[in-house]
Amino acid sequence: MKSLQIEEYGKIDEVTQLVETDLPEPESNQVVVQLLASPIHPSNVMLIKGEYVQVKFPHKLGTEGLGKVTKVGTDVDNLSVGDVVLLPGGKPAWQTEMLANANQLHALPVKDKDMMLQLAMTSINPPTAYLMLHNFVDLEEGDWVIQNAANSAVGRYLIQFAHNMGVKTINVVRRAELKEELKAIGADAVVVDGDNLAQQVKEIVGDGKVRLGIDAVAGEASSRLLSCLSKGATMVVYGSMSLQPIKIQLGPLLANEAVITSFWLSKWYRETDPSEIMPLLQKISKMILEGKLSTKISKTFSLDQYKEALNYADSEAKGGKVLFTNFD
Ligand code: NDP
Repeated sequence: MKSLQIEEYGKIDEVTQLVETDLPEPESNQVVVQLLASPIHPSNVMLIKGEYVQVKFPHKLGTEGLGKVTKVGTDVDNLSVGDVVLLPGGKPAWQTEMLANANQLHALPVKDKDMMLQLAMTSINPPTAYLMLHNFVDLEEGDWVIQNAANSAVGRYLIQFAHNMGVKTINVVRRAELKEELKAIGADAVVVDGDNLAQQVKEIVGDGKVRLGIDAVAGEASSRLLSCLSKGATMVVYGSMSLQPIKIQLGPLLANEAVITSFWLSKWYRETDPSEIMPLLQKISKMILEGKLSTKISKTFSLDQYKEALNYADSEAKGGKVLFTNFD
């Protein structure tokens, strides 16, 4: 089996290696899962560059995906060869095959390849969007939420979840051409980031309340987002696409008595009981399977094309997610 790994941090196309090893036979309670699809997230790229969490080397890459069962251990009775499953959490996803404990996996009723690409992105960005909407502010129908990097996958999922809740979204982007696309998936307002952001938002919400701000950009963008919030609102910082530290002007912080906090899904997974995690992932995969939740896909690559794939995933204005695929 082939897998992608790093032995040091550095330029993504220089330090990433495709290595080949033998896969042992599955134990009686295990299955062999062949990779079908796995996304390349900003955190995957940042990790390779040494800009994310510190890891031990060699470090195998990839964080989530979808696979197909190709062999079952002698005691496995919940899965059969050919079943499609989410890859087990906590295992490197960018490998053509892996062993997994059968009791961690559930067969998903999916045959369509486009749907498989969507399902391969079930366990990171959709729960991030869902939990940020539900865990910080008790939002009521008609409330406004503002988010930047609204064209990201997290941003697009958040638009769809909020729309279902009757919560209105103001979506801050850096490219005006995204306005109609985001409105088509349920965005109430789409604005281009800039020094006049607070003024643009005031004109949209009028007397309405912007009770939650969601920041994936950091740097100066954090201050601009903060200045759009209503009194007593909460701002959740969960990403740093600008690669800058969060910069906050004291004025808007004092004026609107905002609470600034953070969200990290890895911590939520570590600290949350599986009895709470499983229902959320099932709810999300059901919505994806029913066509009620999706994100835009830009391009797919095979694992062998990893240099091209990683560089493309690290480029600007791709307009959607980049995935590795390994379909027959
Ligand atoms: P995507 O790869 O889908 O999209 C990235 C988005 O960021 C694009 O819309 C891009 O805009 C925008 N962007 C890139 N650079 C900048 C910049 N300098 N200023 C403003 N916007 C920028 O991202 P994901 O949805 O996978 O992830 C979004 C963020 O969420 C990332 O920072 C990621 O690390 C974080 N994240 C955090 C989690 C947590 O638990 N804290 C969990 C999951 C994700 P454009 O379209 O114009 O190129």
